[in-house]
Amino acid sequence: MCANECKLTAMAVILASSLLTISAVSNAETISENPKFWLDSGKQSLADSEKLKPNENNAKNVILFVGDGMGISTITAARIFEGQSKPNNRGGEENSLSFEKFPYVALSKTYSVNQQTPDSAPTMTAIITGVKTNDGELSVGMAVARQEKNGNVVNANKVKSLLEQAEENGLSTGIVTTARLTHATPAACYAHTSERDWEADADMPTDATVSDIAKQLINFNYGNGLEVAMGGGRSKFLPETINDPEELDKKGSRKDGLNLTQQWLDKYPNAAYVFDKMGFAAIDAKKTDHLLGLFDISHMEYENDREKDTAGEPSLTEMTAKAIDILSKNKKGYVLMVEAGRIDHAHHAGNAYRALSETVELSNAVRKALEKTNPKDTLIVVTADHSHTFTIAGYPQRGNPILGLVKQPGETDFAKDKHGMPYTTLGYANGPGYRGTPNRVDLTLIDTAHPDFLQEAAVPLASETHAAEDVAIFATGSKAHLFHGIQEESYIYQVMAKALKFKVGQ
Ligand SMILES: [Zn+2]
Repeated sequence: MCANECKLTAMAVILASSLLTISAVSNAETISENPKFWLDSGKQSLADSEKLKPNENNAKNVILFVGDGMGISTITAARIFEGQSKPNNRGGEENSLSFEKFPYVALSKTYSVNQQTPDSAPTMTAIITGVKTNDGELSVGMAVARQEKNGNVVNANKVKSLLEQAEENGLSTGIVTTARLTHATPAACYAHTSERDWEADADMPTDATVSDIAKQLINFNYGNGLEVAMGGGRSKFLPETINDPEELDKKGSRKDGLNLTQQWLDKYPNAAYVFDKMGFAAIDAKKTDHLLGLFDISHMEYENDREKDTAGEPSLTEMTAKAIDILSKNKKGYVLMVEAGRIDHAHHAGNAYRALSETVELSNAVRKALEKTNPKDTLIVVTADHSHTFTIAGYPQRGNPILGLVKQPGETDFAKDKHGMPYTTLGYANGPGYRGTPNRVDLTLIDTAHPDFLQEAAVPLASETHAAEDVAIFATGSKAHLFHGIQEESYIYQVMAKALKFKVGQ
């Protein structure tokens, strides 16, 4: 079930039934933020920094987390969002997401070969192959024109992904996402195509000789193939003659009659295919060597809505844990890509609540990966493919609810714009949350912290857009110190390949 985008747009304005939930977070403060506190905590951070030594070990395992659309403002707001939910917080601003404690951070320049503000196809191509390309294209060089139909031209311009290299070197490989498995970010790991939207044969011109993305996942023939592939997008794998197992009134979308879930089972030894929470829970990692999980007909649910899913879905954290259990059976190591794919979708819908709760769930998944791995032999990278036009504005007082209206220190009333109207801290430069000027809607009686509230936007667009500023790269473990400074997005591949001792680009 995936009707959220439409629902969110329709619910742009929600009258407050519980306005008083927006009260400033004030706490029994056990810590006074006096000068001594800041100097002592700064001293501790400095002592920790002085102890930091480069981890020169090669990596056996690399885990790459991608928060799709997780710009720096998203990380800041998610940190406060999570912090304000914790008991005894000091406002929430002091909180840290799991990966914010990583010792090394760099910035990533996300532009693509032909576009200042990129989409997820060339950005993930850069991250996972080390090569920047044109917008909309997956793991092919820039010489390929978008929507090139000739499969020979596409194949002649393939650029190899880190997962393909890993398989050739005898490692195991896994892909986990909350988006469709055939969506741009996961697809760049295993597919090579001139058009990211060619997810199934039904999405393509009939005279194109490029293989569709779902088929490329099943036909991934490097090493002994993918060990783990979990996410949404079931319709792209099922023929139009078969009913979906969860949404029984809907069918698969493939016109070629292929049931790719059956092909997965036929292709691999000790293979399993699951489509719901019970099937997922029943998977014994010790006995399963190749796991395909397709938990929704399209994208998986947002974490906020997961409990309401008809057949039930595992969380990103649960999928990450299961993937590590299966992949870590290989003594040579593994490469795992985990995408929080729906941070991006919530931002496109102008819905900060879900963008932030998805980011917190990514932080939970990273924490789980830290628990299950050893930094001596594992490199963990957390980054975003691109940013969004999401802003944190005004001069709200300390602890002001991050989803609420701006209230300045010492004031009893909300801060007002020049028409006398209050405004939220969080907003977008464009998107569906546009409420008209010069007569803005008065937000005083609207519950801006409601999960379905759409933050205001300056420019009316049906879908909020990506943004072009740099995103962050967080790293810990083997060779993590090589992430420093401002780098091209394609540099991320270089460090991961170096940590694994792979020859670059081969
Ligand atoms: Zn997007």
